[in-house]
Amino acid sequence: MSLKENILRLKKEKNAVILAHYYQTPEIQDVADYVGDSLGLSQKAAETNADMIVFAGVHFMAETAKILNPNKMVVLPDLNAGCSLADSCPPDAFKVFKEQHPNHKVITYINCSAEIKAMSDIVCTSSNALKIVESVPKETPIIFAPDKNLGHYISKVSGRDLVLWNGACIVHEAFSIDKLLKLFQENPGSKIIAHPESEAHILDVANYIGSTAGMINYVKAHPKEKYIVATEAGILHKMQQEVPNTLLIPAPAQENNTCACSECAFMKVNTLQKLYDCLLNESPKIEVPETIRKQALIPIERMLELSK
Ligand code: SF4
Repeated sequence: MSLKENILRLKKEKNAVILAHYYQTPEIQDVADYVGDSLGLSQKAAETNADMIVFAGVHFMAETAKILNPNKMVVLPDLNAGCSLADSCPPDAFKVFKEQHPNHKVITYINCSAEIKAMSDIVCTSSNALKIVESVPKETPIIFAPDKNLGHYISKVSGRDLVLWNGACIVHEAFSIDKLLKLFQENPGSKIIAHPESEAHILDVANYIGSTAGMINYVKAHPKEKYIVATEAGILHKMQQEVPNTLLIPAPAQENNTCACSECAFMKVNTLQKLYDCLLNESPKIEVPETIRKQALIPIERMLELSK
């Protein structure tokens, strides 16, 4: 039996569900029950009847699934699948920052640890960040953490002043504006689509800005165009399946790498073999201390309620 067949057999035997993020490798996406963005994955994790959740993504995503499902087993193929953005917001420093801004509502992007979520009023994803910010009364000041680029963008489109935590994603900050504009000139008529974790100079030249799910939906709605795609390159697998005849070009990174695109090293530590191993061995398991879990659950549930 192939590795893929063994994964599908074990999944059935253990009543497991495999949830995968768009940034996972194509072979992992192809064995998943659901492939999506952070919002879709949280919604799927909240409604699953499976006994075991195999989370093919990074640590904060598996942790969110565990917060929503304390009685289910949640496993992650590799515990080293972290996130530079989540790491840019250490809980001790964020506690001090919060104390420096009393009376502020705290909205945190889902890319943060359980400890940070436990200090938040509402969690958001890039799909619903604008809606979540607009759900807070205009006179109430807001702290937005940890992604400053998403925060700047939401502040611009909502017209709200947001107090921003100075965090960022190394992958989305790696795009080269010079190479991007050169690529655009070499592909006349192409459209640039970008994730809002990208820096402002990238977003300023984008024809469409949205979450990974939003970008896929946009391309599906306009399949006759050609696109330069500014987000982690793993999205191209699903996007190309949706629009097989559309030219999709990954936006170039500053670094000279083999694929000339941006890949998240954290997402890519997961492999099909590790996915099989974690399903077989039921390890590594994700655990969240109960006091933190209960506090972190409240802002996640507020987000899910506001996203209905
Ligand atoms: S792409 Fe960026 S935000 Fe997403 S998991 Fe990787 S480091 Fe974190």
